[in-house]
Amino acid sequence: MIDNLLNPWIKDLVPYSSARSEFSGKAEILLDANESWEGGNDGINRYPDPLAKELRREIERVMGIPYEMSAIGNGSDEVIDMLIRMFCCPGRDSIMIERPTYGTYSVFASTSNVSVIDVPLTPDLDLDEEAMMEAIVRKKPKIVFICSPNNPTGRVYPLEKIVRIAEINEGITAVDEAYADFALNFESAISYIKKNPRIVVLRTFSKAYGKAGARLGILVSDPEIQKVFMKAKPPYNVSSPAEKAGLDALSEYDEAMERVRETIARRNELTAFLQTLPYVVRVFPSEANFVLVRVSDAAALYSYLLEMGIVVRNRSSDLLLENTLRITIGSEMEMEKLKEALNGWNG
Ligand SMILES: *Cc1c(COP(=O)(O)O)cnc(C)c1O
Repeated sequence: MIDNLLNPWIKDLVPYSSARSEFSGKAEILLDANESWEGGNDGINRYPDPLAKELRREIERVMGIPYEMSAIGNGSDEVIDMLIRMFCCPGRDSIMIERPTYGTYSVFASTSNVSVIDVPLTPDLDLDEEAMMEAIVRKKPKIVFICSPNNPTGRVYPLEKIVRIAEINEGITAVDEAYADFALNFESAISYIKKNPRIVVLRTFSKAYGKAGARLGILVSDPEIQKVFMKAKPPYNVSSPAEKAGLDALSEYDEAMERVRETIARRNELTAFLQTLPYVVRVFPSEANFVLVRVSDAAALYSYLLEMGIVVRNRSSDLLLENTLRITIGSEMEMEKLKEALNGWNG
């Protein structure tokens, strides 16, 4: 099914066969991988598991994502890069993105000499289904990236819309659900992969699970795509400390979800607070752990906040985002300091 979508050299790829993948079972003496014989108690002298089996088994148990449908990347960023390298022929193929969205899709497309087709969101920052359908039929992108909840708008797109676009799209539809946990009543595209195996879903440990430094992204997809991903990725892309960090995060799943609830409460509170400020033009309702806000003069407010020791993201240069700042939800104290600073501004 996906064979004719893959790059031919990927289809025929002979994977690197690591020492650890040629052997299974238990052995006491490992003299197969030229590792150091000395390594303390954490086992870091040994190469990590290329398949991250333990983490994927826990992902199945805790998150309900079937083992044979998950693969781990060095952050979702690596998953994005790998998808482009697996499916897009440099100098010939294209990806499609909505604008504005997460910047990494186009960066990795550019590093692979793959062109990027932008489809602007509606003025209301919703997905423009008709424009996307039309552009897909006309330009035949190899991958359509849809980010929901979208970064930097915080908007969740109706799943039926995404599914309809994926149906029309003969290539891969990659749904980036990095912020899924922060959205209320979120419906994941994962449940549609069985019906349409050209849908793949991206998840990450960087946001709700608090492990951005570990670099752990999840590719959820049809097992056929999994097999190709495993073959094409760098063999040791997930380090053993990273895999351990992922296991820790899942063993503290309830705590993470409690933190998510706090974050959502603080996000709603910040949204309401921003609406009371005279220089705020519009607060975009967010279902992520950040809020996008339009103000009278974003550059000036950005500099003022910086002077107060607070860094936010100025998104004003992107399409449809004139005079907007994206503010991440922080700790209670950080939010208090932010509100204090915002109160002291009379732009
Ligand atoms: C933060 C973010 C990610 C996470 O990337 P990692 O490489 O897993 O840290 C993925 N997608 C979007 C849209 C994001 O904002």
